[in-house]
Amino acid sequence: MMNAVRNTFHVRKDDQVQVIAGKEKGKTAKVLRVYSKTGRVVLEKLNMVKRHVKPSQKNPQGGISEKELPIHVSNVLLVCSKCGKGTRHGVKQAAPAAAKAGKTKTAKTVQKKIRVCKRCGASPDQAKA
Ligand SMILES: [Zn+2]
Repeated sequence: MMNAVRNTFHVRKDDQVQVIAGKEKGKTAKVLRVYSKTGRVVLEKLNMVKRHVKPSQKNPQGGISEKELPIHVSNVLLVCSKCGKGTRHGVKQAAPAAAKAGKTKTAKTVQKKIRVCKRCGASPDQAKA
């Protein structure tokens, strides 16, 4: 599960994102799940829907339960911790440590991509790593 997946989006699980379209527009929430096949994300406590549940063994009362509906990934922006709001992020190659030190250790540079805020240049990935 920790392998780099090709089908990744600008947001990942546990990211803080801002909703830019739909009924939850303007709100921020944490990403609980990413469905890479459908391009949708589940956000904590957003886009809740009420489900009427019939009484069952598990839930003898029945009644109404609420759950989050996934929304499309294009409707959310990654929140920059520095800017404090949803901003567009670009992807750039993280500078290899060897190149910084001036040593030419060719070919063995790790091609690590990080996401950077287009406004201030801060990266949520560096902070997490
Ligand atoms: Zn920023």
